[in-house]
Amino acid sequence: MKQVYKNNIPVLAAIFLITGAAVYLLLFWRGAAFKPPVQDDTRWELMLEEETGRLNSVPILLYHNIDGKGPFSLDLETLRSHFALLKNAGIGVIDLPDFIDRLGTPSRPGGRTVAISFDDGFQSMYTKLLPLSREFNYPVTLFVYTDNVYSRAEKSITWRRLRELDAGGVTVESHTISHADLVRLYARNTPESRKKIFDEIYLSKRILELYLGKRIRYFAFPYGRYNLPLIQMCMHAGYERVFSTDYGSNVITRNNYCLRRQHIKRNYSSDLIEKIVR
Ligand SMILES: [Zn+2]
Repeated sequence: MKQVYKNNIPVLAAIFLITGAAVYLLLFWRGAAFKPPVQDDTRWELMLEEETGRLNSVPILLYHNIDGKGPFSLDLETLRSHFALLKNAGIGVIDLPDFIDRLGTPSRPGGRTVAISFDDGFQSMYTKLLPLSREFNYPVTLFVYTDNVYSRAEKSITWRRLRELDAGGVTVESHTISHADLVRLYARNTPESRKKIFDEIYLSKRILELYLGKRIRYFAFPYGRYNLPLIQMCMHAGYERVFSTDYGSNVITRNNYCLRRQHIKRNYSSDLIEKIVR
């Protein structure tokens, strides 16, 4: 027995060495594989801040008429209280084109900021919004649908008044011709519906450009309804950005083409408004 043991010493030594090396390598590799990567906590927090931080995101507020009637129309005093809230809280109001120029760049605005937009183009834009935006010196973007623009001024907005608004800090942009539901039109998929979509997206831009004598850069979807082909048509039509009514803010480091807007409804409490803008 002793002899056998003696004769096999090199073999046993080799087995011992190989097994040892294998166990060692196995342990080493397991350790390497399961060891979590070294986390740089400050970098992680920066990334989190970039995604969720208020300083890096800009809510675009969306209002409609100013006559206190219907779920989307605030009265002038409530609107004034919203503007005053922004002012008193030190929240800046950024011009929409200025905000869009910053998208995708690291140049965030200093402090908390919101942008303000109005849809449709009611007469109150001229009689109430223009004086209020001047009083607070707040830039506003107004998306109009051209069927809402008339040549008589008693009850509606006119081209002359739109030009005055545009020159006075209320930037006018496109909200189609007839305020049609473009997703529904797209689903219909007839020669007529395709022609109508073309008019609503392309022709509205041309009409506004002719009457206002400036380039129309943005487009807001009626009812906030959109799909990917419609977005692509807007890109082809030459719009620089399009606007939905999807819930949420816009992260400044993300250069999105379709931007969200935060609907402000008449029944929103001041607490809720505060929550949205802070
Ligand atoms: Zn609308």
